[in-house]
Amino acid sequence: MFSQFALHERLLKAVAELKFVEPTPVQTAAIPLALQGRDLRVTAQTGSGKTAAFVLPILNRLIGPAKVRVDIRALILLPTRELAQQTLKEVERFSQFTFIKAGLITGGEDFKVQAAMLRKVPDILIGTPGRLIEQLNAGNLDLKHVEVIVLDEADRMLDMGFSEDVQRLVEECPSRQQTLLFSATTGGAGLRDMIDKVLKDPEHLMINSVSQLSEGTRQQVIAADHNVHKEQILNWLMANETYQKAIIFTNTKAMADRLYGRLVAQDYKVFVLHGDKDQKDRKAAIDRLKQGGVKILVATDVAARGLDVEGLDMVINFEMPRSGDEYVHRIGRTGRAGNQGLAISLISHGDWNLMSSVERYLKQKFERRVIKEVKGSYTGPKKVKASGKAVGVKKKKTDKKTDKKAVAKTPTKRKTVNRPKADAPSLVSQDGLAPLRKRKPAAPAAE
Ligand code: AMP
Repeated sequence: MFSQFALHERLLKAVAELKFVEPTPVQTAAIPLALQGRDLRVTAQTGSGKTAAFVLPILNRLIGPAKVRVDIRALILLPTRELAQQTLKEVERFSQFTFIKAGLITGGEDFKVQAAMLRKVPDILIGTPGRLIEQLNAGNLDLKHVEVIVLDEADRMLDMGFSEDVQRLVEECPSRQQTLLFSATTGGAGLRDMIDKVLKDPEHLMINSVSQLSEGTRQQVIAADHNVHKEQILNWLMANETYQKAIIFTNTKAMADRLYGRLVAQDYKVFVLHGDKDQKDRKAAIDRLKQGGVKILVATDVAARGLDVEGLDMVINFEMPRSGDEYVHRIGRTGRAGNQGLAISLISHGDWNLMSSVERYLKQKFERRVIKEVKGSYTGPKKVKASGKAVGVKKKKTDKKTDKKAVAKTPTKRKTVNRPKADAPSLVSQDGLAPLRKRKPAAPAAE
């Protein structure tokens, strides 16, 4: 119950209006600490309810009687325009019974209109780092009285090269009392560096998004002989599975374009999203998908992070992602906020070891599924190690580099305490589907 939090009644009213009944694990863990004014470092994926976890405490801090606004008091930084827009919507929904006003500053929008909005001084400013810096340089932005800063999807902001911009913006806020940093992954040296620089004695909340995933999403693997066979399986799935909207992930732009071409040729309404597409294409693709004009999206990881599309109930990994975190990201696109979802990974020889790494990372074994109509001959390696990986697979010289890279990126350094040994996997021929292992509900753990 949200009433367990010391939130203002007007915020509780908005929560009730939105029909949020139970707080999600990230909300349960983060809201009380954020209300106390603590700095937080939260590892939680999009779809976990993390936006409300920082928006509600911020609103609680700012809530008060109507008065002339003179200062921006909270700054929320996000990596992409869509995420910033989604966050603005969330802020507006939660603040509907208050006098708090929020403003949005992202690239691709009219600079002067934004400057005019800034002159009216929003209480909460939400934006992407690049354009905020431009407004700052133009003398339109005063952050001197910002009390709270949120760095959302901080790992992604770093991936996108915003490190310096973010640090500059933080430095522009000398009155800040609280900083909340959210990232979907535990990140690398860049994230650690940022955490050291911007957070003061932070509490680290690791939200076990992995367990949450399996609650609403069935996870299956289908063995495939090679890419052409994968395409046949994909065609079968597109034609025979029940889904409202689907997303197909590939590891490369070239493969995304290729699949897009194949699906278009079959008259599917489909869009493709990858790093070469500009913001306009991206927005058009996401809008059409949201409105239902397009049912299928082919995407690479970078392009699809942070997508929140209602009714997205099937995720297909045409290729296995190269790390457990990336897998969690992809699968996090479906089964959101308690809905059902289906995640299917197509596994050929080259994907096997990645799959077993991901299974170990998630501490669960995926359903093995065989589709009679498109059954191939590959059923997994002849021999597997206790780790689930293939024994004695001779790699071709040309594969070596990519394989090494892939394995290096898999989270093998995670704690192995209490990790059950993976069962020796074998692809069992079956028409029906075995039920998923029941997992314990997600529990946040403070580090
Ligand atoms: P987020 O991770 O913040 O992007 O949230 C994912 C989706 O879950 C959004 O559409 C939220 O409105 C929704 N949501 C967040 N918290 C809750 C909750 N406690 N109950 C129901 N839906 C929620």
